[in-house]
Amino acid sequence: MAPTSTRWDLVVVGAGPAGAAAALGALHADASLRVALLDRADFPRDKVCGDGVAPHILDLLAEVRVTGLVDDRVPVGRLRLGRGGLVVERRTARPAWVVPRRVFDARLVDAAVAAGARLLRHRVRDLRQDTDAVVLDGKVCAAVVVGADGDHSVVRRALGRSRGPVALALRGYAPVASGRRGVQVIEFGTRHQPSYAWSFDRGDGHANVGYGEVLHAGRPAPARAQLFERLEALLPGATEGGRDWAGHLLPLSTARWRPPAGRVLLAGDAACLVNPLTGEGIHYAVATGIAAGRAAAAALRDGRPERAGERYARVTRRILLPHLRHTALAARLARTAGVLEAGLRASAADQRVFDDFVELGLARGRLTPAVAFGLGRALLTPVRPTGRPQEPA
Ligand SMILES: Cc1cc2nc3c(=O)[nH]c(=O)nc-3n(C[C@H](O)[C@H](O)[C@H](O)COP(=O)(O)OP(=O)(O)OC[C@H]3O[C@@H](n4cnc5c(N)ncnc54)[C@H](O)[C@@H]3O)c2cc1C
Repeated sequence: MAPTSTRWDLVVVGAGPAGAAAALGALHADASLRVALLDRADFPRDKVCGDGVAPHILDLLAEVRVTGLVDDRVPVGRLRLGRGGLVVERRTARPAWVVPRRVFDARLVDAAVAAGARLLRHRVRDLRQDTDAVVLDGKVCAAVVVGADGDHSVVRRALGRSRGPVALALRGYAPVASGRRGVQVIEFGTRHQPSYAWSFDRGDGHANVGYGEVLHAGRPAPARAQLFERLEALLPGATEGGRDWAGHLLPLSTARWRPPAGRVLLAGDAACLVNPLTGEGIHYAVATGIAAGRAAAAALRDGRPERAGERYARVTRRILLPHLRHTALAARLARTAGVLEAGLRASAADQRVFDDFVELGLARGRLTPAVAFGLGRALLTPVRPTGRPQEPA
């Protein structure tokens, strides 16, 4: 359906997790708002992802009365982390889910529509800010706009903002290899730092498998064939029988995250919020989406839509900045030879350290005293060298 000439209270560009959550956040705060959710794609649509859904995401969605999204899926309660022959596998504090984004995102969009959002098929190409409104493509007019249009965000570029560091990842779906059932497997690379391969059991006989690495300025990005080769080297057999292979960039968060002020807000990948340690981004997308929707609703209620960005920045900087600083530091440390392995050894020795690492990589965690102590102890403990297999160059 083409967008109408209605003047909307809130227009959300992009109906992924960040966009659907923004609509839900606004409508939960004020069900009378006129909210349009624009997406260039028809739903259900695929999104290249590892499909890992952390339990924290469901906590956030419950706050805006969205429940039952994964009730028909099989929870995964174990996580295996490995690097160069060193392996730690433990039960996680809470189970996660592996839900193809074709399913998960469509359910979220349905929830946003049920809450009162109007879903419209529209690819946004241009954004102009007037004194009392934001105009998209010369015809869609809104008091507040949330840019939730993903990694290549048109809205972010219209604000004159660029991306920071990025990672490149390839994913596919393959029959779960024996020995990887009922577990989320992450195998860190030893040659292309930082990098890892994954196999996330969906619980239906198939796993989401993939490989990703951080790109470095001045060095060519790996070709598709190299991504396959590195995945297979780290997780032998993972690509067998695989299909639906596709690659995508991940805009990584940094310690200097700074949301814009004004009527145009950014959420999720559009705001460059992907965990630099793990590539997780759905939690940030939902958290910032809900916060953006709420900030828009509060600013509209006060008759000050031009202050929506300030409100949003206040809230998100408080809930996110300490975590982003800690993950940025942890990601830097993990590049140093030995630190990542010390982290794995510390996680093998102590469930608390393992749990804290998982939090740091997923959602809100920090470098806790338990992690610092465990890391320090592991770094000071001498390790005998192993005859480890080498990845291809
Ligand atoms: C290979 C890979 C594996 C990953 N694995 C995980 C994982 O296991 N767990 C996890 O939490 N995160 C993972 N991530 C990160 C996660 O996919 C993203 O962080 C998440 O999708 C961000 O949600 P979003 O709503 O911000 O953006 P998106 O999900 O990208 O949604 C953006 C939406 O905007 C629409 N859009 C784009 N441009 C326009 C336009 N101009 N006009 C209108 N609509 C537009 C798109 O069609 C899309 O629907 C992974 C990422 C990759 C690439």
